[in-house]
Amino acid sequence: MTDASIKPLTTEPTPRSFSSRRDTLKKMRGGEDLEWDIIVIGGGITGAGVLREATRRGYRALLLEQNDFSWGTSSRSSKMIHGGLRYLAAGDIALTKQSLRERERLLQEAPGLVDRITFYFTLGKGLFPGRFALSAILAIYDFIAGIRDHRYRNNRFLADRFAGLKTDHLKGACAYSDAMVDDSRLVLRVLDESIGAGATALNYTKVSQLLIENNRVCGVVLDDPDSETALQLRAPVVINATGAWADRLRNSVNPEKRVRPLRGSHLVIPRHLMPVDDVLTSLHPSDKRGVYIYPWEGATVIGTTDLDHDEDLDIEASISAQEMAYLISAFNHQFPQQQLQASDVLSTWAGVRPVIGSEKSKDPSKERRDHAVWSDNGLITVSGGKLTTFRLIALDVLAAALDKLPRAKPFSSDSIFSTPECNADQLLATDPAWAQRLLGRYGNAAIHLLTQASDDEHQRIGETDFCLAECRWALRHEAVEHLDDLLLRRTRLGMLLADGGEIIFPQLETLCTAELGWSNEQWTAEVSRYQSIWRRYYSLPHQ
Ligand SMILES: Cc1cc2nc3c(=O)[nH]c(=O)nc-3n(C[C@H](O)[C@H](O)[C@H](O)COP(=O)(O)OP(=O)(O)OC[C@H]3O[C@@H](n4cnc5c(N)ncnc54)[C@H](O)[C@@H]3O)c2cc1C
Repeated sequence: MTDASIKPLTTEPTPRSFSSRRDTLKKMRGGEDLEWDIIVIGGGITGAGVLREATRRGYRALLLEQNDFSWGTSSRSSKMIHGGLRYLAAGDIALTKQSLRERERLLQEAPGLVDRITFYFTLGKGLFPGRFALSAILAIYDFIAGIRDHRYRNNRFLADRFAGLKTDHLKGACAYSDAMVDDSRLVLRVLDESIGAGATALNYTKVSQLLIENNRVCGVVLDDPDSETALQLRAPVVINATGAWADRLRNSVNPEKRVRPLRGSHLVIPRHLMPVDDVLTSLHPSDKRGVYIYPWEGATVIGTTDLDHDEDLDIEASISAQEMAYLISAFNHQFPQQQLQASDVLSTWAGVRPVIGSEKSKDPSKERRDHAVWSDNGLITVSGGKLTTFRLIALDVLAAALDKLPRAKPFSSDSIFSTPECNADQLLATDPAWAQRLLGRYGNAAIHLLTQASDDEHQRIGETDFCLAECRWALRHEAVEHLDDLLLRRTRLGMLLADGGEIIFPQLETLCTAELGWSNEQWTAEVSRYQSIWRRYYSLPHQ
């Protein structure tokens, strides 16, 4: 591809960047920007969604994330934008309807970031659900979404679609569609839209405690290692969108514990070991839970598990040896000739679901997955829910804050994402599918991303769809503080390339030096930090 193939269509002179964390904190220490309309704590999809809806209404809004944006659950989900078949099966039509509508909306607003994919739900002989029960559920599912996509597929069809699939215990499958997303890029795109509308979002900025006066929450206190006096920020509305961590801040105003952290883990294997283009769902032979095998960024993923997570939430979640064995046995049961082994695994990831829990004796998979909003002494806490419904969750949160806010500015469109000024063909006629991917992830900035990089940086890296131009862009504009931000969240190269992406370290060192001014020592320290994170939390389980 040459620069000549990239048409400079945009009129935006300089692309927007995330605020510089250091400059913003320096200003705050100097007494500026200490008062806001809304402070959102937590930089996952829930916090990002609230920020987006708040700025649309003209509020001065600040988001604070203790680690990197999307570092929590929102970079570690199964990455499905779905209506939730199991909500429907459980009779929760309202939740299914909301989720399906949001799915269709996201598909329309952000193609290339959210894309439709076919699911094949296998029908085990003598197992529930059978063909007719599942077809009936899927007919309702499609009806609510306003599409007609479900159909029955026999074993011969399945064997063609999934090479090596054992079918003698199956009675075919029911096919239907849902969608996939890159969860971390979804968070970044929503944050980027919010910043475009005037918001400020800071990563690596922890709220150490709430500011409480006369028994009312009126702001936050920041953990600020560069200052002797704690930085206090004030706002009439403080939103605790800290997901699995939500009880912690909430417990300063209400001792109730409501979040039940449930861990789900995934394995990433090279595509050549199991090249799939659709999602295969089958029931695990030991407990009959649904396990997915699906394509992701040029690799194949097996997931997920659903277990109580009793570990310290400040330590990143990681897969256990038992979960790994469980997922490998699910795979080998369906693909016995493959005999997948731990040594085949490229990487792993685990996330903690912030489930609004009942008692621990309840089967984790039977817990409801919707969100809850609580208002305590001026603190609004939100937890639970899913990626799919983040916009609706944000609207519920703002509704709870309404009486403390000035009148909202009128707005004409409720779209989450602004429409790019060019289409995929105009961006890159030689590869419109890849161009669409860039437009979905970066919106209008896709054009700048390509023009700000050299031709060689447009080449895809290995079997992935990522390129070095995206790395340069992230380093320049997306608040990268550490190498792990770049390899695990801005891109997923650390999970898709062997050994956490060591092969591209030389090119990344050049980029980090040029864009962030890292010295040799800093680069070495970042590599060492990254490798210890990768080995401990994204590789094979520790024994
Ligand atoms: C295994 C798994 C699979 C899933 N699959 C799907 C799926 O396929 N589809 C779907 O729709 N949903 C899925 N979900 C659910 C979805 O991922 C979550 O509901 C969603 O990501 C939660 O987002 P959140 O913003 O509420 O929490 P998080 O993303 O965890 O964000 C909370 C943030 O708050 C920060 N924080 C905590 N304390 C502080 C503090 N004191 N100061 C500043 N920041 C703080 C944390 O660092 C964290 O980044 C899945 C979840 C899991 C675990």
